[in-house]
Amino acid sequence: MEECRYCLQVIPIGSTTCPKCGKPTHSQFNQQVPGANPNLIPCPKCGSFVSPDARACPSCGHDVGAPKRAKFWLIAFILFAVALAIGQWFNYQAHLISGR
Ligand SMILES: [Zn+2]
Ligand SMILES: [Zn+2]
Repeated sequence: MEECRYCLQVIPIGSTTCPKCGKPTHSQFNQQVPGANPNLIPCPKCGSFVSPDARACPSCGHDVGAPKRAKFWLIAFILFAVALAIGQWFNYQAHLISGR
């Protein structure tokens, strides 16, 4: 189910214009978008195509990019922490050797 972005009237599936205010619907807007950017991902809630960099769908505000991003930053953080730990360990070993 889709809502008009101008008057929030519920629009029947397959309709290209809002029955209340006559403005074009999301699906008509988004028909041209995928060709322009093949990396766009469809919003699971409203079907609008969203930039992979966007955290939320611009049409309905549904979170689309956030989980992917969060995972990426989590992995980056873990890698950073591991690199830091290894660096500390080498530092400690070097300190032990130079200390004698
Ligand atoms: Zn409308
Ligand atoms: Zn959406």
